[in-house]
Amino acid sequence: MEKVIIIKYAELTTKGDNINFFIKALKENIESSLEGIDSKVKADKGRMYIYTTEFDKVLDKLQHTFGIHEINVGYEVETIDIDEIGNRLIELLKDKEFTTFKVESKRSDKEYPLTSMDISRKLGGIVLKNLDNKKVDVHNPELLISVEVRFGKTLFYFDKIKGIGGYPTGTLGKGMLMLSGGIDSPVAGYLAMKRGVRIEAIYFDAPPHTSEAAKNKVIELARKLSEYSGYVKLHVINFTKIQEEILKNCPHEYLITLMRRYMYRIAERVARQGNCKCIVNGESIGQVASQTLTSMNAIETVVDIPVIRPVACLDKLDIIDISQRIGTYETSILPYEDCCTIFVPKHPVINPDKKLCEEYEKLYDFDSLVSEAIKTHTVIKVENKVKEEFNSIL
Ligand code: ATP
Ligand code: MG
Repeated sequence: MEKVIIIKYAELTTKGDNINFFIKALKENIESSLEGIDSKVKADKGRMYIYTTEFDKVLDKLQHTFGIHEINVGYEVETIDIDEIGNRLIELLKDKEFTTFKVESKRSDKEYPLTSMDISRKLGGIVLKNLDNKKVDVHNPELLISVEVRFGKTLFYFDKIKGIGGYPTGTLGKGMLMLSGGIDSPVAGYLAMKRGVRIEAIYFDAPPHTSEAAKNKVIELARKLSEYSGYVKLHVINFTKIQEEILKNCPHEYLITLMRRYMYRIAERVARQGNCKCIVNGESIGQVASQTLTSMNAIETVVDIPVIRPVACLDKLDIIDISQRIGTYETSILPYEDCCTIFVPKHPVINPDKKLCEEYEKLYDFDSLVSEAIKTHTVIKVENKVKEEFNSIL
């Protein structure tokens, strides 16, 4: 009898013909997250099985993997003979403390001579006959015994761990996440990743107005996100000159709007270079002046790529809840300034006019600054620890 971790797939099963593609991707993602941990992964259409000697480490990784609905630590026996199944079950239950129990069974082979109900009834009878002082309680059992008779083998498990759901990372292409040091954008990135989108991230850095610590905070947030996807490629753009020239040359109430239009333009170009099919950001309707619908409109109009805003319709408290759950909150609330908070005008325009934006953007040769910023940007491959930093050769 072998101890095994059993994985039930999340929404993959609704994907029709694509199911094999999704299972293969999930298997590869799991294998790469388990690198360095003694383990072997096997998959069939309905379940994945992991054999390991390092259960805790594997369980932790699996609880950070998208595409998993449920995780069970159980036992596998190479028999589908009901009496033999019963014997093995008794062996497992001998040392367990419980009085009331319920057997819940499934069979994946519909040709199997017993129905699920028959299996449960038969095994329940075997437990009552072989162990003292046990009682069936179908409503509120102390021990839920799950049994799955599959092709040529049977699985037992007694606990269920909820997976984080979603689609396996990378199965729906790539997106460019605008990652600041705040609470919202890491949550936005997480939610996009959950839909199977692999995230590259872009950070607009403005030294010396923003500190090295602010940048490190963003790297740490990217690292937290990488726990869910293996790695995150982080693009760091030096945005100082663009910001300073906007400040010098343009009306201050339009500062944020113009700044964000340039961020979007740069994000789009870096996204295209990396074959990312959308921009993802942490904008939430109404949260600040630059996130009114009119503002979003005036800003988004400068790009020709979908902009996905996973937290657009969430309350701040709900966003905070998610950030606490995924482990980014503590880092996000560290008190470092980002480039937006330093250049905040007293009265930002709430309903910016696109035509005026275009006029203001003619007041300086911003285009060459944009090209320069893209040409000289740095890329950091962020994994569980930062591995390499190199100048972009783009
Ligand atoms: P967050 O909590 O994510 O910082 P926010 O509420 O502070 O968001 P803004 O500063 O208006 O909102 O930014 C909105 C979105 O624009 C952010 O969620 C992020 O996606 C992007 N963004 C803002 N500043 C930067 C930056 N310096 N680098 C990269 N992206 C940024
Ligand atoms: Mg911010």
